[in-house]
Amino acid sequence: MIRLPDRQLPDAAQAKLDTYQKEIDGIDDYPTRVERATMSWKSRNRKGDPTFDAVKETLTEMCSGARRCVYCEDSAADEIEHFRPKVLYPGAVFAWPNYLYACGPCNGPKNNQFAVFAHGSGEFTEVARGRGAPVVLPIAGDIVLIDPRAEDPCEYMALDLQDTFWFVPRARRETSAYRRAEYTIRVLRLNENEFLPKARQQAYKDYKAHLSQYRLKQEQGAPRRHLKQLEREVQCRQHPTVWSEMKRQHGRIPELSTLFKAVPQALSW
Ligand SMILES: [Zn+2]
Repeated sequence: MIRLPDRQLPDAAQAKLDTYQKEIDGIDDYPTRVERATMSWKSRNRKGDPTFDAVKETLTEMCSGARRCVYCEDSAADEIEHFRPKVLYPGAVFAWPNYLYACGPCNGPKNNQFAVFAHGSGEFTEVARGRGAPVVLPIAGDIVLIDPRAEDPCEYMALDLQDTFWFVPRARRETSAYRRAEYTIRVLRLNENEFLPKARQQAYKDYKAHLSQYRLKQEQGAPRRHLKQLEREVQCRQHPTVWSEMKRQHGRIPELSTLFKAVPQALSW
């Protein structure tokens, strides 16, 4: 998971979202706000609705590859995902910075799972509401799940490029940074599906092959536009975290070290 590029919505779509959100925020009672937020979302987020078409188009521009899911970076994104679950935080149901584009298999299990480090005590607290539980405001706190719209997940998690292709927390155990990475990896099931590490390994091989090809063409004096095309192909692939981690870890992995030494400009791709 990488930090997503910032994009603004077209003015008309942003204005509509603001109007919808104001309607929800104007309701005093929290349980009613939750209920209306859910209903309003269902009735407005429909295919062909110009506001949500614009939302989806803009989210598509932020995706890697062919509209890949922000979480797994592997499957096609086809659901607008609320980073902060709308049933817990109706104040963010129509908030543009709260939207991500995800695939069904990632969005489904994440569902309403959410946790905070409680203000005051700092204690890790799950705030998801069980079925039939009273609809009360979640306790205030700092978010645990890493938000790829607002922060760089690669600061918290590394990808094991030499063996498992799993994500691992970067910080020391017992730190909040470790806890955030561990929770994010678990809730988003980043290591659970066997096919995902396999797909990352394949992406690693593809990126390496592209870079080797670039190196060869560069040595052969290929035209600039040809090299530019190879560069673009690297930048447009799925699994951008694999590429990001290859750049970060190249000094520790001899085969990458050799490649990036020959093509140092690739470190800025
Ligand atoms: Zn996914």
